[in-house]
Parts: sequence; structure tokens; C-alpha cells
Amino acid sequence: MQLKWDGHTHTQYCYHGSSERQEMYIDRAIDLGFERYTLSEHSPLPVGLFKDTNLFKRLAMPIEELPLYFQYAKKMKLLYASKLDITVGLELDYLPAHLSFTERIVNDWHADLQDIIYSVHYLPGVEGIHCIDYTAESFREDILAFYGSMENVVNEYYDHVEAAITWVAQLPIRKRIGHINLIEKFASELPSIDEKQVRTRLEGIIPLLIKSNVGLDVNTAGLRVKSCGKPYVLEWFLAECMKQGIACVYGSDSHKPEHVGTGWDWFVKHI
Ligand SMILES: [Zn+2]
Ligand SMILES: [Zn+2]
Repeated sequence: MQLKWDGHTHTQYCYHGSSERQEMYIDRAIDLGFERYTLSEHSPLPVGLFKDTNLFKRLAMPIEELPLYFQYAKKMKLLYASKLDITVGLELDYLPAHLSFTERIVNDWHADLQDIIYSVHYLPGVEGIHCIDYTAESFREDILAFYGSMENVVNEYYDHVEAAITWVAQLPIRKRIGHINLIEKFASELPSIDEKQVRTRLEGIIPLLIKSNVGLDVNTAGLRVKSCGKPYVLEWFLAECMKQGIACVYGSDSHKPEHVGTGWDWFVKHI
């Protein structure tokens, strides 16, 4: 039997999510019959990463708050210990120019870290790095314009995903690559992506996941996004990863309490 586990969720320490109390999320998870629940808040970002300081503040908590987040997460873990196995984690960003920053966070907190989601949210673009999942407009103007074609963007994205898997592999903590098809978030609003290209790139990633012992965040948040309409993991890819024994963990990527458990039905149907 598959453990009923939501392996990717956010908290009040996310400033583009909800400030709702944690109990709202967790009580819902318990009502839905979840047995394990991972708190995987966005980890702080290096100061000066963006020119846009307002956006910077919304993307992740400031580094000074990280001790408070761990305190909060551990408190929840204890509080609910008899009802639900809460694991304490972080969603870390693959930032090739700032690997030592990430390394420092992992070193400082490794005793408390049970799960790591390692995600590619950023790519180099026009005048610096940009979020691939912010808005379709920003994707077009700041990223697509920089690379010239979707084909080039997709290749750059999967180059980052591969490098991310290789880097995170060395950490002695349970880890998963975050929402591997996030590049398709704005699919219906952007020039089309060649499915064959995506397939080829993903096929190349399977041996890397096996070798690296990095799991898959089966992230269903894309189902909630109109311009995407599907999970951020393709069905055939999930099936192949399962066949190869790669750890495939469902993730709602909840940014508000009502997100908890969404897409679980899709997940169980496809594993
Ligand atoms: Zn988020
Ligand atoms: Zn993410």
C-alpha cells in the first residue's frame, strides 16, 4: 500500500501564499486521511538576487526568519505526533551562481532537515535571472526573448534540472527534484513546446535519477493552473520512474489550506 503522504507543502513563512494558521492545513490533511505531511517552505534567497526588491520579498522568507521557521515546523511536528507524521523540510532553489549559499543553509540546519525539494524556478534571462513560473508576460519578455525560441528555453531548463539533480545528489538527506515539468506552467499562453523534445530530455534524466538516488516530486499543482491544466509530471514519465524504482512522492505544493490533497486522486490513478 502506498503511504498517503503529501510531500510538498508551504506555510505562513511563504509570502506569496497564505498567512493562514498551520492547523488549517494539517487538520485538512488528517481529515483526508494523510499519514505523512512534509513542510517544505521556500528557503531564503541570497540578497541582491533580483533588482526588483518587492518581488524578492515575496518569493522567500528573509534569512533571519529561518530559525523561526524551523522552530515553528518542529513545534507542529511535536504537536501532531500522535496523529500525523510531519516531516520538516525546505524547498531549495537551484542557483548555480550561489551554491555555497545553499550549502551553508543545509550545513547549518542538516540536523533538523528531513526532506529537501530541489527546484529550478529561475533561469538566466534579460538583465539577470528570472522566475519561470511568475507570469506568462514575464516568461515571454524576460526569458523567451533572451533565448529566442521555446526550444532553446526548454533545453536550458533541462540543463539546469540535470545539474540540479547532480548537485543535490551529494546531500545525505532524503531529496526530490521539484516539479520537473514546471516549464509548461504557461503552456496555453506561450508558443508551443515540442513534446518530442521534452520526452527526449526526460528520458535522459531517468538514468541520472537512478544513479543519484534523487526522488521525484509528483507535483500536481499544475492541475490548479488554468494555463497548464496538468500535473508537473507527465504520466509516462511517472510510470517509467515507478518502474525503475525511483522514489515518487506526491506533492500538492499547497500554498493555502484548501490546496492540501488536491490531485491525490490523479496520483493514485497513475502509480
Ligand atoms: Zn511558492
Ligand atoms: Zn516550487
